[in-house]
Amino acid sequence: MLKKILSPETCGKCRVCCVFDHDDVWEIPLISNELHEKISASRPELKTIPRGNNSYVFDMEFKNDGLTYCPALSDTGCTLGENKPFDCMIWPLRAMKKGEDIVITISPVCESVDPESPAVKELVNELAPVIFAEANRNPDIIKEYIEGYPIAAIKARP
Ligand code: SF4
Repeated sequence: MLKKILSPETCGKCRVCCVFDHDDVWEIPLISNELHEKISASRPELKTIPRGNNSYVFDMEFKNDGLTYCPALSDTGCTLGENKPFDCMIWPLRAMKKGEDIVITISPVCESVDPESPAVKELVNELAPVIFAEANRNPDIIKEYIEGYPIAAIKARP
């Protein structure tokens, strides 16, 4: 979705959004029921565990380096293609719950994207309907807002 602002090559070299330390385990992507069925059928080696209601995460363990690596990550990037979790599809944008609202934020973790750039603002406007629609369709894969995350768009929940 985000090739206009972030090339696959840039992502493939960085991979910061696919590796987690103890402070950012909350960032591990949530997998909807529907996607869980697809991944279980096509990639049974990628084990998952339930997380909250109607959502899953990959079953991941911390290594000696203090990090846990998404099992779908390869040396050249994500191996899931179109079956990536929605969190990953829209990264570094995020849909988050803030009170009664759904907000689209831009993760400060991704150093390759400038939240103030016109291209990013244009993309947020273009993708906002898709992101809000998915948030309504699968509310259980939407994370709670983290104070300080830059907000790019807001929609009140129905
Ligand atoms: S599913 Fe793919 S893009 Fe998402 S964290 Fe795992 S390797 Fe990264």
